[in-house]
Amino acid sequence: MAAISYQDIVKAPKALLHDHLDGGLRPATVVELAAEVDHELPTTDPEALGRWFVEAANSGSLEQYLETFAHTVAVMQTESALRRVAAECALDLAADGVVYAEVRFAPEQHLERDLTLDEVVAAVLAGFAEGSAAAAAAGTPIRVGTLLTAMRHAARSQEIAELAVRHRDTGVVGFDIAGAEAGFPPTRHLDAFEYLQRENFHFTIHAGEAFGLPSIWQAIQWCGADRLGHGVRIVDDITVGAEPQLGRLAAYVRDKRIPLELCPSSNVQTGAVASIAEHPIGLLRDLRFRATVNTDNRLMSGTSMSREMALLVEAFGYGWKELQWFTINAMKSAFIPFDERLRIIDEVIKPAYAKLLGQR
Ligand SMILES: [Zn+2]
Repeated sequence: MAAISYQDIVKAPKALLHDHLDGGLRPATVVELAAEVDHELPTTDPEALGRWFVEAANSGSLEQYLETFAHTVAVMQTESALRRVAAECALDLAADGVVYAEVRFAPEQHLERDLTLDEVVAAVLAGFAEGSAAAAAAGTPIRVGTLLTAMRHAARSQEIAELAVRHRDTGVVGFDIAGAEAGFPPTRHLDAFEYLQRENFHFTIHAGEAFGLPSIWQAIQWCGADRLGHGVRIVDDITVGAEPQLGRLAAYVRDKRIPLELCPSSNVQTGAVASIAEHPIGLLRDLRFRATVNTDNRLMSGTSMSREMALLVEAFGYGWKELQWFTINAMKSAFIPFDERLRIIDEVIKPAYAKLLGQR
């Protein structure tokens, strides 16, 4: 069997559930938008800036890591900037062969120049619609669903949850909380999660990234999360040996088919995992958890969906069969209606992988 090339991976349909809008800007766009609002950047050379983002996020310093988002968020404070960033996001994902993506952002971080929460959401939704239309015209159709994120250290989760439900018929498909895990348990936002459950709405929770099992347990058993943002630390509840033993929480997550939004490069960058080869995604796939592959922050990690897949091919020797498995896992776990998920699986993903599998 010939090794799978990066170019082939780009052409294969992929589904992405965990991608941050403020973590995926084009460096050249950051430079142009910063000039418009007089925001000072570390450098105004797009290539050097792209490298700066990756290096700062790699530095191991939380201060530098947070500074990267300070720059992207600073240039996303107007209707036109939000719209442009969202449109380019849809186009970039589509060009990378992503056929379905859920992109998340925190509306409360885009209120510095007098936009209201609803205006922020409307601008991003308009951008995704514009980018998706352009992608379809370019022959690379993509469906983008939006997730609204509330910051876990803040106290606006109820308001953001209501905002998400208000825009559910125009493109917002779910809710999320993000930010520092330690010291800010998801149970602080119980009201918001209970509200969303009463509204029959979907949500994922960033949990089990750096912080361990208690955070995952709370997200699922107290808050009722449909999916886990990362969830990689679920491996702490698995005893590895000749016959891996699952603890009660790990068994529950697997039995209930709770999707894990795994982000390999991001986890290595933040030190949650030592290397791609040592990433628990290999074990979690072997044990048939509902594992999915994601980008998290494409700009800060210098990555793409195809690159993440290629890294896994290299580290674990995966072939098209495994890449299809991850892709269908993601599509099954999407927050859009069941019939729409099925249509993408049956009409887009399966026929394309059947061809790729047949070529071997
Ligand atoms: Zn994330």
